[in-house]
Amino acid sequence: MLTKDFIEIEDKYGAHNYHPLDVVINKAEGVWVYDVDGNKYLDCLAAYSAVNQGHCHPRIVNALKNQAEKVTLTSRAFRNDQLPFFYKEVCELTGYESVLPMNSGAEGVETALKAARKWGYKIKGVEENKGEIITCTNNFAGRTISIISFSSVPEYKDGFGPFTPGFKIIEYGNIEALEKEITNNTVAFLVEPIQGEGGVIVPPDGYLKKAFDLCKKNNVLFIADEIQSGLGRSGKLFAFEYENIRPDITIIGKALSGGCYPISAVLSSKEILGVFRPGDHGSTFGGSPLAAAIARESLKVLVEEKLVENSFNMGKYFREKLRAINSKNVKEIRGKGLFIGVELKHEAKGARRFCEALMARGILCKETHEDVIRFAPPLIITKEQLDWALPKIAEVLTME
Ligand SMILES: *Cc1c(COP(=O)(O)O)cnc(C)c1O
Repeated sequence: MLTKDFIEIEDKYGAHNYHPLDVVINKAEGVWVYDVDGNKYLDCLAAYSAVNQGHCHPRIVNALKNQAEKVTLTSRAFRNDQLPFFYKEVCELTGYESVLPMNSGAEGVETALKAARKWGYKIKGVEENKGEIITCTNNFAGRTISIISFSSVPEYKDGFGPFTPGFKIIEYGNIEALEKEITNNTVAFLVEPIQGEGGVIVPPDGYLKKAFDLCKKNNVLFIADEIQSGLGRSGKLFAFEYENIRPDITIIGKALSGGCYPISAVLSSKEILGVFRPGDHGSTFGGSPLAAAIARESLKVLVEEKLVENSFNMGKYFREKLRAINSKNVKEIRGKGLFIGVELKHEAKGARRFCEALMARGILCKETHEDVIRFAPPLIITKEQLDWALPKIAEVLTME
């Protein structure tokens, strides 16, 4: 079977809620993926940062296999022997007191929003059902109805109403807007320290710190969505570390599993997560022994292989080399660590054709919005691998 045969079956039976590049992958290892026609590609998307540790990392795959042969799922009706160690290790690594495990990132965000609302009513003293959560333009936090209720991207919302009330949207990066929108009913401010799907947007220096201070002053919870920017992607364990803040709640997902299984978690204090009582929130698969064993190993690999440091160093090198490419198509190169966005000028006629040209040269990238190419390879990438890719990227960025 050839690429087109796989695509034909997929397109015949599947819902068309994605517009993938026409590459059919059947094998992957480290930074490389292989297609059914035998072509090899450098993966510069890393499954939206879920495979930060590299594809099929042997240690993570082993943890998965070993645990799968023992016990995979108990549900939280019973306890299992992996969850306590996942809790302890993730808290020790991140410096948080308490954790609540879920599966997808969106469920992690929903959990954080529920915690914030309940904290608002039970602890801050906001009148029941009056709690407000402030979010930012251009955000991405998942696809549930409540989450898209505060999206500013029309495409994410079209045809999906009615929406969940209680959210306000202010301009990302604008501290005055936040100051203006906070009221006595505000329970939380939800923000991505670097916007990923929004086009790898880095807010102005000092913005997160000022926003954090404003939240503290007004007894508003600061929630960092680090599902994509976290766990080393930005060159720090968390992107918020660049501004020396400690969010009240941090949501992680994606790379928490090394790409092996959907695992997310909400990190916070005992006081905030303490608002949950038996029966008021949960998930059948959240905190399963399989998930816990995989997450434990994924975090160990991140630390022991120094992937955060490598992301910082390789990211700096990659951006410098990208900036040295003299291309009339490029408007801006931005990012932190190996979280890099190349924004093209409008005249360049969209990022998609550049991604297709990169694919033809053995590099997989995905456009985000119309005009941004995101470069976010697995954090294990080496200088040699970047040096292999850079001339090809230069060729594509300078094309007519
Ligand atoms: C991917 C992502 C999510 C949603 O995660 P899913 O696992 O796709 O539900 C939430 N927030 C951010 C910042 C993301 O990048």
